[in-house]
Amino acid sequence: MEDEKKLETLYMELGKAYYEGRFEDPLPELLPYFDAITKLRAPQDDNVFCPNCGSKIKPGATFCGNCGYHLK
Ligand SMILES: [Zn+2]
Repeated sequence: MEDEKKLETLYMELGKAYYEGRFEDPLPELLPYFDAITKLRAPQDDNVFCPNCGSKIKPGATFCGNCGYHLK
């Protein structure tokens, strides 16, 4: 999977940065890596939204909990 490859590369970069001895104030410098890793690790956005009212709908739901719209 593409994202897993990216994640692996980011982990490597993160480890490399530490390895290279940037320990004095590593957090701000490494924040972009943390952000990128967090982004890649985040679960896929499988949220479904009601086409009628735009409310978030539970996965597998047949009707919108807000307006009652019948989802296919
Ligand atoms: Zn709705």
